[in-house]
Amino acid sequence: MTDAKIIDGKAFAEGLRLRVADSVATLKNTHGLTPGLAVVLVGEDPASQVYTRNKARQTSEAGMKSFEHKLDVETSQSDLLALISQLNRDAAVNGILVQLPLPSQIDSQAVIAAIDPAKDVDGFHVVNSGLLATGGDGMVPCTPLGCLMLLKDTLGDLAGLDAVIVGRSNIVGKPMAALLVGESCTVTIAHSRTRDLLAVCARADILVAAVGRPEMIGGSWIKPGATVIDVGINRIDADEGRAKLVGDVNFYEASAVAGAITPVPGGVGPMTIACLLRNTVIAACRQNEIAAPAL
Ligand code: NDP
Repeated sequence: MTDAKIIDGKAFAEGLRLRVADSVATLKNTHGLTPGLAVVLVGEDPASQVYTRNKARQTSEAGMKSFEHKLDVETSQSDLLALISQLNRDAAVNGILVQLPLPSQIDSQAVIAAIDPAKDVDGFHVVNSGLLATGGDGMVPCTPLGCLMLLKDTLGDLAGLDAVIVGRSNIVGKPMAALLVGESCTVTIAHSRTRDLLAVCARADILVAAVGRPEMIGGSWIKPGATVIDVGINRIDADEGRAKLVGDVNFYEASAVAGAITPVPGGVGPMTIACLLRNTVIAACRQNEIAAPAL
């Protein structure tokens, strides 16, 4: 059934994590610097607990310092802002990540705005999104950065290619578009109000799906030979009451048409944490005026 090349994000992420660990060892040996990442979790959302646990484990495995802050679900916005302010001042903390979503009493935008842009390893602060939009050198959001790495590894030079991104969120769709414009692609951002979405997708050389709707994009939506990056992570009921993860793309249909495609799981997902570790090393270097490694 599978004609497309399967883009192995798991293997790529493993390689990136090894390169990060090498850079961390070099920073320790040559500059006495151990990069540190603080992860803040408010509440007990099960998925967020899994994500933050994985982030902390992989941070330690890369040889970096990991600082975990678990706060009660009732935590007030002012208490969270006080913690952010303390982490901004702490020289041992080079990266700060606040796990989203936050409980309803907290304004996520106010919290993101309070993070020192130099420590904003998620790349969500307006200073960093502004730098990305204007071709500057800020912190780039991890998931789109991971997608771009996979695209360049698969296709090489992306200049002139037609790229369609389905989804316009601030954390995936919009930064993905800015990155692909930066690579000289011709970029279309599609969303829930796009007319004739199928036709828009079907002209894409690069199709990035970041929607959150299980298997919405079928084989007929894909230009033969296109490269498909499936960001979606959707949990659906499978046989015998068990859950399984699927993307926003119908992998079975799409892989018979596409030239290359990321699977779910094992595609974009593992790249997100690997890019977070990469961003933390870059942030630590910049804060200490050390030339950042090419990661
Ligand atoms: P959001 O819900 O913030 O955004 C979804 C986007 O999809 C919106 O722009 C929305 O349009 C658009 N959309 C929704 N329904 C349709 C439709 N029927 N047709 C066209 N467009 C539609 O999601 P995120 O960007 O945060 O995440 C997207 C997916 O990626 C999710 O499955 C999420 O779990 C996954 N994800 C995976 C990550 C990873 O590490 N692999 C990291 C982050 C997210 P509109 O703006 O008009 O409402």
